[in-house]
Amino acid sequence: MKLIILDRDGVINYDSDQFIKSPEEWKPIPGSLEAIARLNQWGWRVVVASNQSGVGRGLFGMDTLNAIHEKMVKSLAQVGGRLDAIFFCPHAADSTCDCRKPRPGMLVQISERFNIPLAGVPVVGDSLRDLQAGVAVGCKPYLVLTGKGQKTHEDPELPAGTLIYPDLATVVADLIA
Ligand SMILES: [Mg+2]
Ligand SMILES: [Zn+2]
Repeated sequence: MKLIILDRDGVINYDSDQFIKSPEEWKPIPGSLEAIARLNQWGWRVVVASNQSGVGRGLFGMDTLNAIHEKMVKSLAQVGGRLDAIFFCPHAADSTCDCRKPRPGMLVQISERFNIPLAGVPVVGDSLRDLQAGVAVGCKPYLVLTGKGQKTHEDPELPAGTLIYPDLATVVADLIA
């Protein structure tokens, strides 16, 4: 069983410094939904792990987050794709929860849910904390240059061995080649 773990904002959809806080603001990065559909076709389990501190900060509620995810799921279905699960951390940035990346709690939960060990599992993100969470539990870090990726690319703390790709579509093209 192959498992891949994706960040949401800046990987699947365009990111915003003002947070994605309505379904209208959720807009897919070209090629990302089709890339997820290809993963599905090639037998990959595709799971999202996303920090959503806007909930904890009171910028939007769970009903809105659910509506955003409904739009993502429907948009994916239109190109024949699906997610096996969406995990998110709703806690504020100053929270001491163990699920907010760079802490690896969500990844551990995913591993337990699907009964798949995390060693070597691709983790795709545009922020340092996505990659740090992955590396902490033995996942393979993939940086995409969409979203905050260009800035992350220049960060001296970028984990050694991080693989760098223009976007999710090129990551997937490589994984299924
Ligand atoms: Mg991101
Ligand atoms: Zn959390």
